[in-house]
Amino acid sequence: MPKQDVFILVADNNHPNIEAIKSTLAHYNDISYKFDIAHTGKDIIEKTERDKFDLLLINRTITGTSGIKMLDEIHKKKLEMPVIIIVEEGDEKLGVEAMDKGAYDYLTKEEIKTVALSRAIRRAIQRKKLEDDVKESIAKLEKLAIRDGLTGLFNHRHFHEVIKNEYKKSKRHLQPLSCIMLDLDHFKSINDSYGHPFGDYVLIKSAEILKKLVRDTDFVARYGGEEFIIILPNTELEGAFILAERIRNAFENNVFRKDEISSTATISIGLSSTSDNNVAGETDLIANADKALYRAKWRGRNNVCTYEETEFEGAAGIKEEEKKIKDFYNKLESVNENIKETCIESAHNILCELNNGCNYINEHSVRVSNYAEKLTKGLLMSDEDVIVIKRAALLHDIGLVGINSKVLKKSGKLTDAEYRLIKRHANIGVKIIEKTKLFHKELPIILHHHERFDGSGYPHKLKGDNIPYGARILAIAEAYDVMRSDTPYKKAASSKDAIAELKGCAGKQFDPHMVNVFVKVIEKPK
Ligand code: GH3
Ligand code: MG
Ligand code: MG
Repeated sequence: MPKQDVFILVADNNHPNIEAIKSTLAHYNDISYKFDIAHTGKDIIEKTERDKFDLLLINRTITGTSGIKMLDEIHKKKLEMPVIIIVEEGDEKLGVEAMDKGAYDYLTKEEIKTVALSRAIRRAIQRKKLEDDVKESIAKLEKLAIRDGLTGLFNHRHFHEVIKNEYKKSKRHLQPLSCIMLDLDHFKSINDSYGHPFGDYVLIKSAEILKKLVRDTDFVARYGGEEFIIILPNTELEGAFILAERIRNAFENNVFRKDEISSTATISIGLSSTSDNNVAGETDLIANADKALYRAKWRGRNNVCTYEETEFEGAAGIKEEEKKIKDFYNKLESVNENIKETCIESAHNILCELNNGCNYINEHSVRVSNYAEKLTKGLLMSDEDVIVIKRAALLHDIGLVGINSKVLKKSGKLTDAEYRLIKRHANIGVKIIEKTKLFHKELPIILHHHERFDGSGYPHKLKGDNIPYGARILAIAEAYDVMRSDTPYKKAASSKDAIAELKGCAGKQFDPHMVNVFVKVIEKPK
C-alpha cells in the first residue's frame, strides 16, 4: 500500500518541543510526515490560508497570542482543520477547555514524546475524514432532494417552494411574474416506438434545450413525467410569449439522435402571468398555465397558448367557432384514416401485380396482422396503438419487392451473400413507405421487425427494450405465421411445435414477456 502523506503545521516557539515531535513521529514509518513551523498567530493564519494542512499541532502559548485564542480565530475564519493543543503537565483543565472550543484532542509535553502523539494524530485524521464523508453525503442528499434524478432540473417539490417565494417577491417589488408550462406531444408513442431508454434520453435532451434557452435568473423544473415548468421573475406576458415561441420552434426543428435511433418531438406550451385576471396567489398562476396548456393541446399540439386567450376564446360567441374547428379537425382525421386504409390496399395490389399475380406476401401480412392484434390485446394496448401495429404488420414485407425473386424462392440454405440481400428488405420497405408521409408511427416498427432480443438481429442490432415495442410484437407474430404455413419446401408446423419453438427462443430472438402473453392468447379457446 502506498504511504499516507500527512502534512502537519506545528505552532510552537519552543525548539525542543518541535524536535521532540519530529523524532517521536519518525518511529512510525507507515506514514510520511511533512512539517511546517509557525511561530506567531499571524504565521498560523497566513500558512493555513496558503497551504492545506492535515493537522495543526499548537502549543498553549504562542508569541503574541495563545492556543485557545487561536482556536477562536480558526473557527471564525472557517479554516477547517483538526487541531491538537499541547499543554503543560498537570494543566489538563486547559486541554478540556480547548476541546470544548473545537480542538480534537490535547496532549501534555511529556506525551508528545510517547506513542500517545502518533495515536492522537491518527484519531484526528480519521475523524476529519469521517466528518468530510458525512458532509459530502449530506450535500449529495440535499442536491437530490431538490433535483430531478433523470434530467438534473429542479424537481416538483422544490418548484412549489420557489414559486411561492417568487410570487411574494413579485408582490413586494410590484414586478410581473410569468409561468410557462410545457408538455411533450405524443410522448407515449415515442416510448412505444423506440423504447423507454430512448424516451428517457429525449427527456434529458429536452431539459438541455430548455436550460439553454432561458436566462440565468429563470427557473426550470421537471413538473411531472414529460412535463416541465419555467418561472420567469420580472417578466411580462409578452416576454414569456417570445421565449415560449422560441422553445416551441427549437423542439420543432430538433432531431433527437441516439445510437441508431432518431426521432422528432414537438411540445405544447401554456402561459400565465400575474397580469392575468383574478390572480390572487401562485396557485392561480399554476392553474392558469395548466389551463392554457390544455388549450394548446386541444388546438392540435405544437402550439403556444396564453391563459388570456383561453378566457377570450371561452367568451360567448366564440364557443360556436371552437366547435366548428373541432368538427373540422375530427372530419379531417377520419379522411386521413380512410386515406391510410386506401394506401395499404393499393400497396397490396401493386405488390401482387409486380409479383405476376402472386399474392403470398399479402396473405402472409394479413395473417401476421391478425396474430399481432391478438398479442396487442393480451398486452392490453390502447385501440390507437393496436391500429398502428396492425398497419405496420400489413406493410412490413413490402420491401421484399426489391429482392431478387430467385433468392426469395430458393428452397435450400442461403449463401451469406443471399442472406445479406434478403436483409435489405426492411430498409427498402421503409424507403417506399416513407414516400407517402402517412405512416411515421409505423416506420420504426417496420424497420426493426427483424431485430432480435439478444441484439443479434438486423438492420441495427438493437437489443432488448431498445427495440421498438411494436417491432417486438411483429417479430413474434411473423415467426409464428411462417412456422404455421405450408411452403413449397416445408410443411406447416403444428401449433404445439410452433409454440415450443417460440418458447425456446424467448429471451434470445424474442421478448420473453411477450412470448408468454402470446402463448396464452393463442392457446385460449375461441
Ligand atoms: P399528449 O400529446 O397528449 O401530451 O400525449 P402524450 O403521449 O405525451 O401524453 P400521455 O400523458 O398520454 O403520456 C405521457 C407518457 O410519458 C406516458 C409515460 O409512460 C411517459 N413518461 C412519463 N415519465 C417518463 C419517464 O421518466 N421516462 C420515460 N421514458 N417516459 C415517461
Ligand atoms: Mg405529453
Ligand atoms: Mg403529460
